[in-house]
This record gives sequence, structure tokens and C-alpha cells, in this order.
Amino acid sequence: MTLNALFAARLDRWDHYKDVLPKAFKAAGVEVHLALDIAPEEVDYIIYAPNSELQDFTPFTRLKAVLNLWAGVEKITGNTTLKAPLTRMVDFGLQQGMVEWVTGHTLRHHLGMDAHIINPTHAWQPATPPLSRDRRVTVLGIGELGMACAEALSGLGFDVAGWSRTPKTHDKITCFSGTSGLSDALAHGQICILLLPSTPETENLLNAETLALMPKGSFIINPGRGPLIDDDALLAALDTGQIAHATLDVFRVEPLPVAHPFWAHPQVTVTPHIAAETRAETCAEVVAENIRRNEAGEPLLHLVDRAAGY
Ligand code: NAP
Repeated sequence: MTLNALFAARLDRWDHYKDVLPKAFKAAGVEVHLALDIAPEEVDYIIYAPNSELQDFTPFTRLKAVLNLWAGVEKITGNTTLKAPLTRMVDFGLQQGMVEWVTGHTLRHHLGMDAHIINPTHAWQPATPPLSRDRRVTVLGIGELGMACAEALSGLGFDVAGWSRTPKTHDKITCFSGTSGLSDALAHGQICILLLPSTPETENLLNAETLALMPKGSFIINPGRGPLIDDDALLAALDTGQIAHATLDVFRVEPLPVAHPFWAHPQVTVTPHIAAETRAETCAEVVAENIRRNEAGEPLLHLVDRAAGY
């Protein structure tokens, strides 16, 4: 029997997916009719992005699962009209993109590259940066993306610690967890990378009190979500030198409003939510595999725990 999959993401994404997904369905051995418009009561799966116009799932009476194309799910976990299982995206492209972006920005701060790139007085500044083994890095959130980044940085020689909600162990990464582990995690890293989801528990995780627990002159790199940081507290910490620089990819309001002080602040780098993007070529396989699994009665991959919010 042919299954019906509704593509509900921004319309400009359709061209990226309309050929790649059917190929992946074929390779996975599932017969799926993919379209932008299907009568709701005939839809089996929704391939979804949270910025889609579709927000009311009530009419989808035979829906088997919503397969989210993004890693972040904060815009859908609270949707009470959605009763079907929800999965989120975990794939090679997102992971590799994030590892590259995080590594690049970490090396920028570790090596003090700005002093040489922006040097209008042509000052000869022969200060040698420390080796990576003498630089401590903390990754807040060591899930799929955070752990990949932590392992890549550890592979480069950095002294890496990670923080998660549930306890973890790792032979190369010092692992902290829970509320009790946060202060140790924050005190560890001179470079702190945020790869947490946006949930009620993680909102304003970096605030005046927690920023003060970081080593003086720390660098913050946030490709996680904007609400993880209290913007005013960060600006105050930048002004006192408690935080030396913040590289921010995500914001409470996106695009970041032109009047926001982050744009003009000399110690803030703004990137426009580009750290890692879902790429059709790498995620199609995951979508197809999840449909195959569900049809075969196997558990879905990357199921969202809606109570935990991620
Ligand atoms: P994930 O696999 O779900 O990992 C989330 C991590 O955060 C886990 O280690 C989790 O702990 C930890 N965590 C969650 N709540 C916590 C809490 N209250 N206290 C301590 N730790 C907590 O997610 P992911 O795939 O790595 O993605 C992480 C986030 O990256 C996404 O949610 C999204 O916001 C962001 N993202 C951004 C971009 C971009 O382009 N900027 C692209 C993709 C994703 P446990 O391990 O114990 O569960």
C-alpha cells in the first residue's frame, strides 16, 4: 500500500527535497507518495519544519508520525494538537556542519586570530598562543551535536569538559551533569560552547550569577538557542571583561533586530543562524529509514521526549 507523506516546511525548501526524498524512499524500500498538498485525513506522515504554516494537527486523523527536519523542536513540543509521535533530525550533515563551525570559532579565540586580522596600526605582536592541551573548553549540552564537537576538540588536544542533564562517562571528556555539576562545568572552560536545547529548564542558563562562575576573560560560543543566555547579563559581563567575547549564532528574535546592542558591540560576533543546516541530501536517508522502521513495527529513531522538551 502506498503511504502518503505531506511536506510541510517553507515552500522554498520543496525544490531541495522533491527529488531527494523519493530517491531515499525507494532505496529504503518504502512506497511513499510525497506532496505539498494531501487531504489531511489521508496523510500518514508529515515531513515537517516548525516554521511551516501548519500548526494545527487536529485534521490529520490517521497521522502516524511527524518527522521534524530540524534538530531543535522547541516550537513544536508544546503543540497540544499533535498527538502522534514526533522525531527530530540527527544526521551526518548537521553534525559535520556544527563540528566545523564550532571548531573554527573555537580556534579563532584560542589562537587570538583577531589581533592579527584586525591590526590597523601594524603592531608587531609576537605573543604565542598556548597549545590546545593548555586550553580548557566546556561544552554545555553533550548530546548528538555537543558530543561530536567535544570529541573533535578533544581530538585537537583541548582539555574538554561537558555538561548534560543525565550523567555520562567518556574516556577523553570530563563529564558533569545536573544542577550540581553546572558550577564545575562553568569553572572549567575558558571557552564555553552552548549546545543545549531551548526548554523551560535551560532558559537564561547563562545569567549574571552563572556568568560570574566562568574564568575571568572567558569566550562564549552559542550555536544552541538564543534563550539560553540572558542578553543583558551577557552585555554587562562583556563590559566588565568577565567575558572577553561572545560569538552568537542564535537569538531570542531572529533575524536579530538591527537595533539590538549585539550588532554594534565590539566584543560580539553575530552569525545569522548558519552553524549547521539540515541538508536534504543527508537527512533524506534518516526520514526514509524512520518511515521504514515505523511500518516494520520497529522503534522510531530520534524520538522527542515531549515532557523533557527535547
Ligand atoms: P540533543 O542530542 O538532544 O542534546 C541535547 C543535550 O543537552 C544533551 O546532552 C542533554 O542532556 C542536554 N540537556 C538538555 N536539557 C538539559 C538540562 N536541563 N540540563 C543539562 N543538560 C541538558 O540535541 P542536539 O542534536 O545535540 O542539538 C542541540 C541543540 O542545538 C538543538 O536543540 C538546537 O537548539 C541547536 N541547533 C542549532 C543549530 C544552528 O544552526 N545554530 C543547528 C542544529 C541544532 P542529556 O544528554 O542528559 O539528555
